[in-house]
Amino acid sequence: MGKLKGKIALITGGASGIGLASAKAFVAEGAQVVITGRDQAAIDVALAEIGERAMGVRGDVSNLADLDRLYSEIGKRLGHLDIVFANAGALTLAPFEDITEVQFNREFDINAKGVFFTVQKALPLLKDGGSVILTSSIAHFKGTPGYNVYAATKAAVRSFARSWTVDLKHRNIRVNCLSPGPTITPLAGKMGIPAEQAESYGKYILEQIPMGRFGNAEETAKAALFLASDDSSFITGVDLCVDGGMGQI
Ligand code: NAD
Repeated sequence: MGKLKGKIALITGGASGIGLASAKAFVAEGAQVVITGRDQAAIDVALAEIGERAMGVRGDVSNLADLDRLYSEIGKRLGHLDIVFANAGALTLAPFEDITEVQFNREFDINAKGVFFTVQKALPLLKDGGSVILTSSIAHFKGTPGYNVYAATKAAVRSFARSWTVDLKHRNIRVNCLSPGPTITPLAGKMGIPAEQAESYGKYILEQIPMGRFGNAEETAKAALFLASDDSSFITGVDLCVDGGMGQI
């Protein structure tokens, strides 16, 4: 036990789903975690679940002033970071023909720009030898109906991991991508699937997963813990898929 003993980790989107499960897993292994999200009430509920070694800072990852405030708070209260898990993300399914500029910009702002500046602005606080984990998605290398803007944002995230692996090698900072497949989290309820189509949509996805089931957030959190800890000490630049095989066939 204690794989992250003494480490300080930032997890964006840490108040729900994969981020929340990861915050719990990191704390269970000895880390102090900082979670962020846009909703203070949700952060408070999550902090109560995570327990003592957790702190919350409200903020929108696509807003650079919010990121500056986040890092100023972390600097004042904790002094540095060892792990940055840029995990916040959003998805609205829509046919190609229906995608508006507003949706396009929103998804790129949160999923691509948000990840970019979350990590860039963390660099002064991030210790040499640290670990950066970026949540992409198996959507980044697939063509899935309705996912096209989202998939492109996640391809950008996968690309950042490759670039930053070399950009940050002089500081011995490892950068890895985590690509979940279909995972049961609150995200499903925010994708814009009409209630009457939810069941058939679920079946359609399920048929494409070799393991025949959806993943859960705790399974993805285990992979995040692996990438955060010294268990992955010779691993950088990878795209670790936690997808029941869906992206591998
Ligand atoms: P989730 O909705 O529970 O978590 C996403 C979190 O990001 C939420 O807490 C949300 O409030 C936060 N967030 C969204 N926009 C934000 C913003 N602008 N600023 C700050 N926080 C913001 O869903 P999840 O499934 O846990 O998603 C986590 C990550 O995993 C996302 O990047 C998502 O794209 C990715 N992902 C999820 C699945 C899946 O099937 N659940 C599959 C592949 C990839």
